Amino acid sequence: MNKWTRHSKIEYAGLAAQQDFQLQQLKVLLQYVSVHSPFYKKQFNQYGIRIEDIQSLTYLERIPTTSKEDIQQYNWDFLCVDRASIAEYTATSGTLGTPVTIALTANDLERLAYNEYCSFKLMEVGEQDIIQLMLTLDKQFMAGMAYYKGAQELKASVIRTGPGLPQMQLEVMQRLQSGTLVAVPSFLLKMIHYAQEHHIDVNALSARKVLAIGESIRTEDLEDNILLQRIKKDWNIAIFGTYAATEMQTAFTECTQHRGGHLNTELLYVELLDEAGKQVPAGTVGEVTISTFGVEGMPLLRYRTGDLCKGYYEPCACGRTSMRLGPVTGRKQQMIKYKGTSVYPPTLFELLNGLDFIGEYVIELSLDDTGQDDLMLHLYLPVAEAMAMSNLKQRLQASLRVIPKINICDQESIARMQFPNGSRKQLKFIDRRY
Ligand SMILES: [Zn+2]
Repeated sequence: MNKWTRHSKIEYAGLAAQQDFQLQQLKVLLQYVSVHSPFYKKQFNQYGIRIEDIQSLTYLERIPTTSKEDIQQYNWDFLCVDRASIAEYTATSGTLGTPVTIALTANDLERLAYNEYCSFKLMEVGEQDIIQLMLTLDKQFMAGMAYYKGAQELKASVIRTGPGLPQMQLEVMQRLQSGTLVAVPSFLLKMIHYAQEHHIDVNALSARKVLAIGESIRTEDLEDNILLQRIKKDWNIAIFGTYAATEMQTAFTECTQHRGGHLNTELLYVELLDEAGKQVPAGTVGEVTISTFGVEGMPLLRYRTGDLCKGYYEPCACGRTSMRLGPVTGRKQQMIKYKGTSVYPPTLFELLNGLDFIGEYVIELSLDDTGQDDLMLHLYLPVAEAMAMSNLKQRLQASLRVIPKINICDQESIARMQFPNGSRKQLKFIDRRY
């Protein structure tokens, strides 16, 4: 059993107790980075930050935030240990700009295992369960490895099927009776489709729960989004949303109440900030800004993820009092300004996922020759094109008030766009503006 698994039950304690605990952990973090992190040492000097002055959570606001660009530009200045102490090099997926290396020590790997152990606990998955991991475990991908380690910490059984191949996934499920899946939710639609074509009843399968990675399944008000509605229409299975970023080495996962992803109080401090760097009022969307607890290799302090979410602070019906995070409603860097309208990719995903005549899609964003955002939808339509197009244009007009450029492609060209150069992640949004 790893040192983290001695469950402290802090997420069941009152808010005041949690804040006390978090303040103590922040002091430990400040002390640690002020000694070991070249980046933060320099920053504290430059801004005259005296860590002994930080005696309350609000004082933390005196410390400048850290951006994605900081890690991109000064990647190795974030490393707090000798290179010899690094146990694993992981990398961000690089959907925006160059990939960033996140190096983990052996202790960080244990912390990561605890983090996903907690995710499975939130879903009430335990030792008796068989977990089918339908995601990549290689290509420096942190999540695959994290779920594998978390499942082992839980003493559950694991099946590593990797991503894709509906036929193989269904065959393994039938043969080994897996009860829990870790999968990209839009892939579940492909499995349903395959099963229907081959007269397999998905509801007769043993799977009861899915940890849905990589895509949102809720609306801003925590209702089922269109993607989830389409899955649930054919498959009676409990689906749990999660939100994470490689840099934070921690996930926010839904409990059985499905009212936002719970903060792991022991592992992370979270602030939701406005443009000016102030905490937004409850019920308002802010930029998720995190500080890591217990990370040895590359800890982060007030790191702005670029993800925009809403926080939920009332106690959860599951008994936990830890704050919860709603789905990502946008990425700050990904706002599209198109013909006078502002739109975030999740709005487009929600719209395109709701149109069942669209087989596959890629949203491509670039700059036109005047430097304005240019929006192109690449679509594969398995049905009669003319009918679909008129329906699509009406829907675009109604929800965006503008119609982007549309490029109809065959299935193969869409697949090439979605998986460029053996990408481990299916790309549905390509931003060529930077
Ligand atoms: Zn809960």
